Amino acid sequence: MVAVRELVSNLKKLSVIEARANEVRVQIIKHSKKIDESKALIERTKSVIDQSHQALREQKKLVDRLELDSSGLREKELEVKQRGKTIKKQAEYNAIEKELDAIAKQLRETENSLEVAWHDLDHETKKSASIEAKQGASAETLTQSIKDTDDLKAADERTLTEILAEKIDIAKNVPEDWMKRYEQMIKSVPNPIVPVSSESCSSCYYSIVAKDFTRLKRSEIMVCRNCYRLIYLDREEEADALNAQF
Ligand SMILES: [Zn+2]
Repeated sequence: MVAVRELVSNLKKLSVIEARANEVRVQIIKHSKKIDESKALIERTKSVIDQSHQALREQKKLVDRLELDSSGLREKELEVKQRGKTIKKQAEYNAIEKELDAIAKQLRETENSLEVAWHDLDHETKKSASIEAKQGASAETLTQSIKDTDDLKAADERTLTEILAEKIDIAKNVPEDWMKRYEQMIKSVPNPIVPVSSESCSSCYYSIVAKDFTRLKRSEIMVCRNCYRLIYLDREEEADALNAQF
């Protein structure tokens, strides 16, 4: 009698422990997910910064190229002017004038583009600094969040280890065959051991046949023929349930 009551109590404890373990497992999974998400977001901040650096580099390249073009045109202008000094014929002079006009036009265009490019570079530099500051701060917050979540996860993992140790301790007092039945049931239901109520399984309401009920009255644990949960008779609960019917 005492043995059965102890068995029932231990199996119930095990299902409570299992529920706690599952809650902690869910938390651990949530923490891991949050850490992964934060890591992905940090990668994104890096890529946003990289993109802005790339845009800045491109803009600098454009300015450099236009500056080079501009000084090249100025050199060419000087060289043509130099050449102009040595000529004698009008036709040659006209050709030089034409060439100088073309260079001047090109130079004006290049310098206009350069002015725009400088302006854009200035804008891009400010924009890049702002992006870097903003993304950097965001990455810092995320890094801290990962650290905090990691701590929570580690604490939950310790709790889980404790819970599982508790489970092993209790399982030591449960006969192996009952442990097997219990383990099989706990995989599919959170309450593998339930009391009988009004001569039925209190979980699936399957009516217990008279012969089985007699066995239960002798303080046995049985397997419900319908839902396969472990069922036991708690005399006080059963008396309450029967009284409630009247
Ligand atoms: Zn049942």
